[in-house]
Amino acid sequence: MEKLSAEQMLNKIFDIMQRLYNEMRLNENNPGNHLKVFEIFAELGRTLVEADRASFWRWDKRAQLLMTTAATGTSQIVISDTTGLVGQALAENRAILTNAPYKHPNFNSAVDKKTGYLTKSILVMPVSNCRGEIIGAFQVINKLGGEGFDEIEDTKRLSIAAFICGMALESDMFLDDSQRDKLTELKNRFGFYSDYRTSQSATPLSIVICDIDFFKKVNDTYGHNAGDAVLIHVAKILSTACGNAYRWGGEEFILVLEGANISDAAATAEKIRLAVLNSVCNFEDKAIRVTMSFGCAEIDFKLSAEENIKIADARLYRAKTTGRNRVVFED
Ligand code: GH3
Ligand code: MG
Ligand code: MG
Repeated sequence: MEKLSAEQMLNKIFDIMQRLYNEMRLNENNPGNHLKVFEIFAELGRTLVEADRASFWRWDKRAQLLMTTAATGTSQIVISDTTGLVGQALAENRAILTNAPYKHPNFNSAVDKKTGYLTKSILVMPVSNCRGEIIGAFQVINKLGGEGFDEIEDTKRLSIAAFICGMALESDMFLDDSQRDKLTELKNRFGFYSDYRTSQSATPLSIVICDIDFFKKVNDTYGHNAGDAVLIHVAKILSTACGNAYRWGGEEFILVLEGANISDAAATAEKIRLAVLNSVCNFEDKAIRVTMSFGCAEIDFKLSAEENIKIADARLYRAKTTGRNRVVFED
């Protein structure tokens, strides 16, 4: 493949930046798939250094994993953060370059073996957030033209994509963090409102608000840590039964059931009620049992989110005042 002239290169960069700019703006034609922007970042990096492939890796420090958020030419890859040239770039906090990967001790040839691709040159640059902490890495593979990557020129060029990628990833991680409850790892109330807008397209749509019965007694009897364990226990049951479970606050949760009318919602709530009733939360040497009350409402799209929630909430209140450990789905 022929080298691009400076003007051709600049034009290509402008095209990519315009695609990025348009992709960032949500509208009716673009309901928002934020991973798409990372794909375009990968394309930007690939173009800047004139490589055959590019991938952007997100570092999950807690899980000690590296995963591609976007890659040209392959599907998502997840690896241990201690492996490969990407792992080395993170561990040593520096760019790693090789134009003879098969001779490099940290090169993992397994992917090539599986896919039949032949890796000839690699450049990996660590990517940081604005505090300088490493959060991922940018990798480009096989310099076009065959001469291999140039340490000075190509790290300079790739730093543009690595920098923008770092900022975008940081902001994505920050948003995700702000919408997640640290104790139960469910999404929180902000996450609910953010998702509610996009889930409105699914009809019918129902919500279920549920609350642990006499939860204060759990804290008083077994202590606050036991109460926390019960919240985690209940959250697991909820998220297993429903992919869209949120911690609404305290010991209260909200479920969004796409495609469910009111009787589907009531049936799901009843199933969860029984699952909680028949489960045991083991904390230290104690076996703690709780029950939950439920209020269901089918979303009326003419009403606001708050107004719909109010209907479900009033039903939950009735479940509480008429004996608890029950599901209410009508007025
Ligand atoms: P009801 O059946 O009417 O819902 O009674 P309840 O005791 O469950 O409700 P109440 O609102 O009186 O008490 C809720 C308690 O939940 C009070 C609060 O201290 C506790 N709580 C809220 N958030 C947490 C938490 O994160 N961890 C623990 N351990 N307790 C929490
Ligand atoms: Mg309660
Ligand atoms: Mg409550």
